[in-house]
Amino acid sequence: MRYLLPLLAILCLAFVAQPSEAVEVLHNYYSMQDDTEELASNYPDIAIYSEHASSTGLGLEIFSVDVALNITELSEEELAALPTMYVDGVHHGNEGMSAEAAFLFLQDVLERTAADPTYLEGKRLVVTPVMNADGYLEDCRNNWNGVDLNRNYPYMWGMYGTSDTRGSCPASGTYRGPSEGSEAETQANMEMMRGMNLYVYFSGHTGSNDIVLPWKITGEFAVPIADWDLYERFLNESANVSGLSYRDPSGAGESIAWGYGARTAVSVIVEVDTMQWSPIETTTIREALANELAMYALAWENLELFGGHLEIVSETSDSVKVTNTGWGAAYNVTAGNGVTEKIEPGETKTIKKGSNFLQYLRLVHVGEEEGLTLVTIELGNIIEDDGEITPALSPISVILSLISVAAVAGFVYWARSPKKELVDLSQTAIRKVQRKRK
Ligand SMILES: [Zn+2]
Repeated sequence: MRYLLPLLAILCLAFVAQPSEAVEVLHNYYSMQDDTEELASNYPDIAIYSEHASSTGLGLEIFSVDVALNITELSEEELAALPTMYVDGVHHGNEGMSAEAAFLFLQDVLERTAADPTYLEGKRLVVTPVMNADGYLEDCRNNWNGVDLNRNYPYMWGMYGTSDTRGSCPASGTYRGPSEGSEAETQANMEMMRGMNLYVYFSGHTGSNDIVLPWKITGEFAVPIADWDLYERFLNESANVSGLSYRDPSGAGESIAWGYGARTAVSVIVEVDTMQWSPIETTTIREALANELAMYALAWENLELFGGHLEIVSETSDSVKVTNTGWGAAYNVTAGNGVTEKIEPGETKTIKKGSNFLQYLRLVHVGEEEGLTLVTIELGNIIEDDGEITPALSPISVILSLISVAAVAGFVYWARSPKKELVDLSQTAIRKVQRKRK
């Protein structure tokens, strides 16, 4: 008898809840901003919400969340050095599902990290759900100036698939803008990305529900992708979890062309769905984006494998044996005594030592600055093939250690000297906003 009331209550609830012809409404600009800020505030040790730029017409804030372990304790240089995955959405204002995908992935990483901090260890995630805030609010593809932001980036700008005529809302268009990188939104994204050690960049769109390469690799205007083997490895791994196929882009000057071309990140557009603005009727937003979220998670969980990734097998006083466990080749490998041009994925090689640092390039493509993909690993221990470590204290290694300590001290002095403002403007801007909002 005492179970009767609860049972009745459950039956009533089930009856009320059953005919749920659920219609899940997508966020709008303001609710996405509020929810993103609130989500980050729930994880104060690992997430920083910031507003770092304004939209062209309505002055709406462009907001991002930066995620890393103990993020408030990291210096700007430490944060900028972490291998980073960047996810953005809504370069095209009427492609709201791409903001949902960015938001849900952010939520996933924060939740999983709370349960297991190793999920975030040694890397950084940055998410900007809405690049084109004016367009998002007004349901327009282009920004306030009628510019297609995804044709405005200064890499192969205007080469193909763009228009020289201003677009209007709601009509679409592919106006590349009056000059390359002319728009405030484009500049904000570039400034953000220049403050990252960028390994992977996903730019979210909707329409064709597939993956778009940074530039054309077939037909007219084709340019080879130097790290194609790495791209192909990732695309195959990705297809296994998401089922998404890939294709050439339809226009030049896209954010991903700049992401790979200038910033050396493995960069693709993810067309997360076929729908644009509308409520979800047949399923939930999360279910509709399950494939894409699985692909984002795959990339995140294997972030350091994007490119050559050398691991030390054993080390003696004059050589070091390394295996490449990455998805791409490692290039120009050196430990101060000669250069090994290339170590293929899965390959093991012994490198002669002439210093206590192993250095290599993760990719063969060089971006807008030298050394964007340079990896440095400190050596100096004797490591047997069975993994046992004995510190090496030969006179030469002591001298080399002293030299390297002096070099690091010199670098720290240089980094903290008055020219510091050159180092990383974007992070300074983020902190400034943070302080203002407190
Ligand atoms: Zn788009």
